[in-house]
Amino acid sequence: MARISLKFGALNLWPDALGFLESSALDPPFQERVAMVFEQGSTHPEYAGSAPVIELIPELGYTDLTQQAGDIGKPVERVQLNATLESLLGKQSGEDGPVPSVGIIFTTQDAYKYLFGLMFDQGEFGAHLPAREGAAVYLDEIHNFRSTEIEEQILFTTVHELGHVFHLQHNDVSASFMRRSHKTGTYPARYFKFTRRQNDQLRKCDTDPEVWPGGSPWRYS
Ligand SMILES: [Zn+2]
Repeated sequence: MARISLKFGALNLWPDALGFLESSALDPPFQERVAMVFEQGSTHPEYAGSAPVIELIPELGYTDLTQQAGDIGKPVERVQLNATLESLLGKQSGEDGPVPSVGIIFTTQDAYKYLFGLMFDQGEFGAHLPAREGAAVYLDEIHNFRSTEIEEQILFTTVHELGHVFHLQHNDVSASFMRRSHKTGTYPARYFKFTRRQNDQLRKCDTDPEVWPGGSPWRYS
């Protein structure tokens, strides 16, 4: 089973914006909840307990990657994301197997708006990084569209973008993490799982460069 470190970074966020990540009220902590999804295929008790899929090893806490104090609260340009991801992960290679670490950058919002998350890829926006090694989650945009279930939406979006890191495509037919989020509300708990087909793909993480992070560029199929 593939073992990959999971690292979180914060870009341009107010200091309290990531309080939920380190909140002692969350049991288990947020990073561990994300990792559990990939171990079990679900956070929903009814769907938990499937065969282990991927072991994501959470690095608790987060790295503040904000460039300057004046940038706090500002939307981020996509060119910033690659540089930030490289700061978080360092230089790594996915040529012979999964990259050692994948990263999630929690930030304000995309300059073009109306996005909750973005998986960005090798060579996009002018950088030359391994393919599919990380993603962004736009906390301000989620707050703009949600007054309740904000933590649930952040978990859903984080797992959804990590799904893209493992080359999972959108699926707007089945209830799963790979649904595109609606602006109007967070999905109920039964959507917080991967389908059997999605789990089958995740299980190929050790052997298939089309699945392992860093193995092949993103493409729609
Ligand atoms: Zn998506």
